[in-house]
Amino acid sequence: ATPISITTAAGRGAQSGVLIKDAEALERMAGVDTLIVDKTGTLTMGKPKLTEVVALGDITETELLSLAAALERGSEHPLAEAIVEGAETRGAARQEATDFEAVTGKGVQGRVGARAVALGNAAMMQEMGLNTAQAEANADTLRTEGKTAMFVALDGALVGIVAVADPIKDSTAQAIRELHTQGLRVIMATGDNERTAQAVAGKLGIDEVRAGILPEAKKELIDQLRREGHKIAMAGDGVNDAPALAAADVGIAMGTGADVAMESAGITLLGGDLMGIVRARKLARASLRNIK
Ligand code: ADP
Ligand code: MG
Repeated sequence: ATPISITTAAGRGAQSGVLIKDAEALERMAGVDTLIVDKTGTLTMGKPKLTEVVALGDITETELLSLAAALERGSEHPLAEAIVEGAETRGAARQEATDFEAVTGKGVQGRVGARAVALGNAAMMQEMGLNTAQAEANADTLRTEGKTAMFVALDGALVGIVAVADPIKDSTAQAIRELHTQGLRVIMATGDNERTAQAVAGKLGIDEVRAGILPEAKKELIDQLRREGHKIAMAGDGVNDAPALAAADVGIAMGTGADVAMESAGITLLGGDLMGIVRARKLARASLRNIK
């Protein structure tokens, strides 16, 4: 390809929905050897849908869903939306929660009437002193299908599982293949469970998975790889991803995600299409040849 100027590269990028903040972001993109991607909202659509409700105790599926949705009305997490919407679609009674509290990267808790309700991952249940062992087989079946399984606790007892599925974006598989062709190593970093993460990564040929990590750990992973001499691009969409985007050599935000993610990023993909990373990389290389 013929060398192009940085201005031309930025212009061509913008035409195809790849917004490049400055010359530095473009130059750095040319030297990147590793891409770290968030799962939810970056590889996947970020619009999870409720797929299963499993009652484990002395409770109906509808009551379980009603309690879960009461809590999730207080949360802005994409998982919360899926549960609230699923509860409405399935006709679960609307109840109000009090004493709502979100536990970052783990789940939500509060009260519904006189009852204490919690909804979240295994780490959250373990923190409450609950043993998830008898429910793990159920949860693992769902995770192996790439779904996110969340446990529901009622008055200190595990009473159910709700699962959601978030479809992979149409263009993700092709983007990962082309990024590999460009010589990049692709690592998924997600707060989601290991099995769920592996199921999604396996379908996409992702090289490495770091699952079950809190948002700060995404930043720490980047810091560590940079210390080892790697040049890192990080793609993410969430409020939680902002520190990691800022820590990377190049932060890449989904235009479909949180504003703070875009503010922390050197490159924004307007439609959230990962093929934009492939294009950004090609433009970066072409403009680099012009500088040299
Ligand atoms: P991601 O990296 O996919 O954006 P998070 O770090 O936000 O994930 O969350 C990690 C895990 O914590 C989720 O997979 C889920 O099991 C649990 N979790 C987080 N927020 C909620 C919520 N509002 N309701 C239920 N579970 C949640
Ligand atoms: Mg996300």
